[in-house]
Amino acid sequence: MIYLDHAATTPVPREVAEEMYRVLTEEYGNPSSQYAYGQQARRLVDGWRAGISEALDCEPGRLFFTSCGTESDNWAFTAALWQNRRVGKHIVTTAVEHSAILERCRWLEQEGYEVTRLLPDHDGGIPAERVLEAVRPDTALVSVMLVNNETGNVYPVAEIAAGLKEKNEKTLLHTDAVQGFLKVPCSARALGADFVSISAHKIGGPKGIGALYIGGRVRSPRPLLPGGGQESGFRAGTEATAQIAGFAKAVALRREHLEEKLAHMARIRAYAIEKLTEIPDLQIIAKGQAPHILSVSMPGWPSQNVVNDLSAAGICISAGSACHQGKPSQVTAALRLEKRTAAGVVRLSFGPETTEAEIDAAASALRRHRETRFPML
Ligand code: PLP
Repeated sequence: MIYLDHAATTPVPREVAEEMYRVLTEEYGNPSSQYAYGQQARRLVDGWRAGISEALDCEPGRLFFTSCGTESDNWAFTAALWQNRRVGKHIVTTAVEHSAILERCRWLEQEGYEVTRLLPDHDGGIPAERVLEAVRPDTALVSVMLVNNETGNVYPVAEIAAGLKEKNEKTLLHTDAVQGFLKVPCSARALGADFVSISAHKIGGPKGIGALYIGGRVRSPRPLLPGGGQESGFRAGTEATAQIAGFAKAVALRREHLEEKLAHMARIRAYAIEKLTEIPDLQIIAKGQAPHILSVSMPGWPSQNVVNDLSAAGICISAGSACHQGKPSQVTAALRLEKRTAAGVVRLSFGPETTEAEIDAAASALRRHRETRFPML
């Protein structure tokens, strides 16, 4: 199998799985138990939290574990809108956020919130000025992702944070950094956002564990899950110790020679652009800066057919984001592409393990698809 869908999820290195197995079988104490074995689990969780916080460049006490990036995104909204309930009911976001944000915004509209969704430019970019222009005195929250999961565009979160101080200092800022963490510079301190969402399974960790950074301007975060007092009382439920251990191990492994890994992914992406653009009419969609994501289109060849054909050849790519399961994605729609181009968008995404030979195989399979299948549009 050739796996070119690292933005959907990533392979788990053996060391991560082994660490999780060790924790499940040898360190299974409940961190809330008062005896020494439980307290040992508490110390381990503290250590894992410290390791992940160091990678995100934030204080460990400001990083809270969740079950996934989607949960982190939703909690940021809950906490921000609670703190700013007297500021107003206006939210600024983009039309190209992950569905975790877009769906939450749809809910909120039913509850009386007004949502401004910014469209990207044709190259996929959204300048900070446009975000700041949309902010009003009643804007409770701005939510702009760090890296777009389909185009790889990097959004100017730090610039937005700086501008918000002038525009409306009460407005809180969330960034979904699920595709940015350990892929592009992603320091909570430097970004200056009040909330930063991350997820383990995009960087070689297990599925089912994420985290939310909550900054100092959030005075008393609205608990996501009231209950037994875990995560400082803000997100109760017995800590998923093995998942957290796997997350921390994945972070530590990914950080080893990180610059080389990122440079490798960027080289692979450049190589893929070179090879794929040899296919007649193939278009590169947006020109994101993240090293691991590349969307292309063969106008006239619908993406789902392309994905199925490559799948039959043992090659995994996706039609836009995995979360849309075959439906045209909101990102493709927001880019306002010509209809045949939009219908043909497929995403290839890379990891430190991806090789040029795998790109060659994908390029040949795409070319074969174009040569052997009739265009349908
Ligand atoms: N945000 C972005 C940008 C994503 O790409 C994803 C996953 O694809 C998520 C959030 C959701 O993360 P999780 O799968 O951990 O819920």
